[in-house]
Amino acid sequence: MPGQRDRCPGVVRLHEAADGLLARVRLVGGRISADQLRAVADAADLGNGAVELTSRASLQIRGLQPGARLGELLGDVGLLPSPTHERVRNILASPVAGRHRRSLADTDQLVTELDLALCADPSLAELSGRFLFAVDDGAGLTGHAAHVTILAVGSDRFRVGTSELSRAGAVRAALDQARAYLPERLPGLGARHARPTMSLPLGALEQRDGRIALTAMPRLGRLDPTTLRGLAVVADTHRAELRVSAARTLTLVDIPPAGVASAEARLSELGLITDPTSGWFGLSACSGQNACTAASFDARAAAAARAAQRRADDQPEHWAGCRRSCGLPDGARLMGV
Ligand code: SF4
Repeated sequence: MPGQRDRCPGVVRLHEAADGLLARVRLVGGRISADQLRAVADAADLGNGAVELTSRASLQIRGLQPGARLGELLGDVGLLPSPTHERVRNILASPVAGRHRRSLADTDQLVTELDLALCADPSLAELSGRFLFAVDDGAGLTGHAAHVTILAVGSDRFRVGTSELSRAGAVRAALDQARAYLPERLPGLGARHARPTMSLPLGALEQRDGRIALTAMPRLGRLDPTTLRGLAVVADTHRAELRVSAARTLTLVDIPPAGVASAEARLSELGLITDPTSGWFGLSACSGQNACTAASFDARAAAAARAAQRRADDQPEHWAGCRRSCGLPDGARLMGV
């Protein structure tokens, strides 16, 4: 069976947790459309309603019962394009790829091409589900170090390792590098390449084309079906696409300036944090006591209590219920254990 050497869940193979079965939905480049948000909300209705953002910009649907028909539900909206490769489609990109003032290249299409080429190679289905690609548009905002990074160095030039390449060459080189991590060549996953990356601040950011990217975050990275459906309406209203980041934020891109105030007001009504000075920013926690039998205390409650005490520019904190420290973001201080 492809990719059976690790226990990372997907949509086809679920993980058994204390609160039921858990599915992980990969969002290539963190991108999710309004229709896909609605499908995830419908899938969450089959579980306990909790949807988590992960530190790799994926979504986790919790509390599912055996036999839940997720494949059909999510496949119909393009969230399961390759059942054999679904767990290895881990491709991070900046939530404002190609739109930031520091962006050197528009990388949305490159991310799509990398995903298609990855899924077209049967051997790469054997990669670990923890293997991570990153596509950095030059702005340094992918938010996570990766095993293989494609870095824009010009509008149509990209670096992979030490080679400077065309767009197509960069995709080929990234997949060649990934093959070196296949289990028969590299037992164990190997180290990630530590390219320092940052995350996008909360609130409005003017894109280089004059439109606005609006970033918000759910408290401790958790959403519910009502919020997901509300986000879909905001995205439709402003013809904007939503992007999830490794910092567990949500960014609506390409909003016309005239629509920003109403979009921000609606995100606040949905309970999302848009204030860049909020103590919730940089605060995360593992799934916690109700979802995991290993938890020795209520890490999510402890994290929530910190929100009022810390400042947004304090070092990020991640609260974990045990030493496994699941979901620890790069650069965050481990708390509680
Ligand atoms: S860190 Fe420990 S308590 Fe928290 S989800 Fe992971 S295994 Fe469970």
